[in-house]
Amino acid sequence: MIDLSKYTKELSKLFSSAENILIISHINPDGDSVGAQLALYHYFKANGKNVSLMAPNNLQEFLKWMDGAEQINIFIKDRKKNKLLIERADLIVMLDFNQSGRLGEAEDSVTASNAKKVVIDHHLDPENFADLIISDPAKCSTSELVHELICEINGAKFMNRSYAEALYVGIITDTGNFEHGSYSSRTFRIVADLLDSGIIKEKIINLIYNNFSSDRIRLQGFALNQRMVVIPEFRTAYIYLSKNDLKEYNHVKGDTEGFVNMPLSIKGINFSALFIEKDNFIKLSFRSKGQFPSNEFASLYFSGGGHMNASGGEFNDTLDNTIAYFLKVLKENVWRFENQS
Ligand code: 5GP
Ligand code: MN
Repeated sequence: MIDLSKYTKELSKLFSSAENILIISHINPDGDSVGAQLALYHYFKANGKNVSLMAPNNLQEFLKWMDGAEQINIFIKDRKKNKLLIERADLIVMLDFNQSGRLGEAEDSVTASNAKKVVIDHHLDPENFADLIISDPAKCSTSELVHELICEINGAKFMNRSYAEALYVGIITDTGNFEHGSYSSRTFRIVADLLDSGIIKEKIINLIYNNFSSDRIRLQGFALNQRMVVIPEFRTAYIYLSKNDLKEYNHVKGDTEGFVNMPLSIKGINFSALFIEKDNFIKLSFRSKGQFPSNEFASLYFSGGGHMNASGGEFNDTLDNTIAYFLKVLKENVWRFENQS
């Protein structure tokens, strides 16, 4: 865990001297990046700051109800407006990512900007792409880290309803509702504060987890029934979905979220992969239990990265060839599984 006080002086100075702040979440923004983004937004708003929000591409449906989500400008929807926001900003805060590539099509404009840049994140080994990088992989979520930084800067706990809801979304989505990830007793103390502040956790859980279309649930059934392969000797299982499969179930963005976690509930399975066929490449998600470094696997073989137990990457080939390559490199890494129980 990092010592936050090392950063708060500089961060506080950057926050107070900024006139136009732009907060950016990562491509395919998840609950944590949007949660952290909106929490920081509500903090700045409460302090009378001029603040704008941007995401490289669209938010998933299940995040759109959050207070402030409607203020998030989508770069690929209106490049001109978003480039202007980037140019106008004198402080850019980037949340929940450790490589500038996660800015998607906004990367060049953000990198070229003269604004001071801050990264707040919890992924390992951040690239050096900002003036100030605050990275703590011991935090369960960027939202948790943002909250702790805000409380340090504020000199007291900060809380309001919209802020608390955003923080709660960030924490539950990055821990799979407290099933995985590096949550700690500190996380639960924060959650206790959020509950004390009056958030209605049943409402949020319903909006985040019980908000699926029937097509999505049927796709999940199909994926488990027809598209899951279990390889007990490698303690591995994977699911693959072609473009046609997705079309058949009227797939919309976000429908396959969480699928990669499902094979891990099989006894003896420590590593799970999900292959999704996109227009020109295959998107991969990885999850592991225990000490199998899925992020090393992702970065070595699939130009990706992430956390030890949750990572992802890409491969530029057909679905069949990607699976064949995955099986080949999996075999080469079988020694990593030997001490796993
Ligand atoms: P998910 O499987 O939920 O899309 O991603 C899980 C984690 O893996 C995320 O926290 C994200 O940081 C990381 N990740 C997913 N895809 C990529 C990728 O293509 N490149 C990198 N560097 N990280 C990824
Ligand atoms: Mn995160």
